Amino acid sequence: MNKKLRVQLAVWYLAFFSVLFVLLGLVLYGVLSRSLERRLDEALLTQANTAAALMREELGEMHGDPQAAASGVIAEMQPRGSIVAVLQDKTILAASGPVRHADLERAAVEVATSRATDSIWRWSDWGKYGARGAALTVTIGQRTFVVMAVESLDSIAQELRVVRDTLWAVIPLVLAVAGIGGYVLARRGLAPLDSMAAQGRQITGDSLHTRLTIGDAAEELVTLATSFNELLSRLDQSFESMRRFVQDASHELRTPLSVIQGEADVALSRERSAAEYKESLANIQDESRRLARLVADLLNLASADAGHVQLRVEELYLNDLLAECCRSVRPLAAARNIELECHSSHDVTVRGDEELLRRMILNLLDNAIRYTPPGGRVSAGVETQGSEIRIQVADTGIGIAPEASLHVFERFYRADKARSRQEGGFGLGLSIVKWIAESHHGAVELASQPGQGSTFTVHLQRTK
Ligand code: ADP
Repeated sequence: MNKKLRVQLAVWYLAFFSVLFVLLGLVLYGVLSRSLERRLDEALLTQANTAAALMREELGEMHGDPQAAASGVIAEMQPRGSIVAVLQDKTILAASGPVRHADLERAAVEVATSRATDSIWRWSDWGKYGARGAALTVTIGQRTFVVMAVESLDSIAQELRVVRDTLWAVIPLVLAVAGIGGYVLARRGLAPLDSMAAQGRQITGDSLHTRLTIGDAAEELVTLATSFNELLSRLDQSFESMRRFVQDASHELRTPLSVIQGEADVALSRERSAAEYKESLANIQDESRRLARLVADLLNLASADAGHVQLRVEELYLNDLLAECCRSVRPLAAARNIELECHSSHDVTVRGDEELLRRMILNLLDNAIRYTPPGGRVSAGVETQGSEIRIQVADTGIGIAPEASLHVFERFYRADKARSRQEGGFGLGLSIVKWIAESHHGAVELASQPGQGSTFTVHLQRTK
């Protein structure tokens, strides 16, 4: 089952926040306990140093009596909270504070048996939480004393417990707030998505021109909406061109069909002579051929659109192919009294589909002859420049107006409708030329002067 994104985001946010908060708590707790201990250690060292200095003074004043001197030190120090003790040979001479003798003695033995006396000690088996202490060795004359300042860790442990308890109480509260906050934020952040989904549901095949509006949303959502709108534009365009294609195709199919039907109706309306039937049948045959050509062209373009045309690529000589095409249109040119000139000085090889390339050249030659008045001239040639091949078909015909030249490669477009129909064209020839050139990674270009003639140039890549 798909989980709601906003819940997922809130859970992630909460998990991340919990880890962060717990880590922060641990770090703060650690830093606090370390700093409390350090402060205690400094205080203990100061006390031990003071006690050591006092011991020297008192021993002088007490005429060398260590017991009396130690008691004097303790009386003067009046330590608060901590225990100050003076030891000689593992024996406690005097000690202050609420001291458990056993604990202090054990500590004293530990300090005395260790060589490193002048340092901070930690006794973990002291009271409930253990103790810390500073122990200093003091040598006065021949005698060596150990001065200790010890304090149990109870007070620090209590302070830390308060901090811990506070953290335990605050963490669930903070996490609850973070969880709710995360959910609300995710909900607010994702609200434009709901609106986009609702708008998207309203869009049907008939309303592809509608666009999503999301107003002032986050950049990522604006990008998503923009991509979606671009997709809609593309769909709208292809739906529109499909609609136009179907409309135009039906329109084109209707004309020859009604001619065939009309011809048959007239022929059958009464008895006719064999010559009249023959003429009608010839007309029907002409129109059927036209119809077959149109259907073949439509099928070709539809397969090209669907990407179903597999090019049969082979290496071929374009100069030979051009010469062949010229040969096959020569009778048409002669019948229209048009001079046809084909030139190609050397061998030009290309990798391509021979059938399609022949079709492309024939379409261009056929147009050039059809749109050139008698007495005109059509010339075709293939030439190379570097790795580029240029196939050129030029005529001295009626030419194409600049505004029409933008559209001549579109399907069913005719610059001069009456003339094109009369010449038997459907407005598909140049779109097929364009498709063939592009499917060979090439392009077709037109230069024309109305009344002077047109030149179509196909650019292809030469085989190395
Ligand atoms: P058609 O079957 O109508 O010739 P095309 O796609 O081959 O369709 O050409 C589209 C239109 O371009 C034609 O209707 C015609 O008006 C114009 N055209 C094409 N070739 C030429 C040319 N060589 N000279 C003048 N006009 C041309």
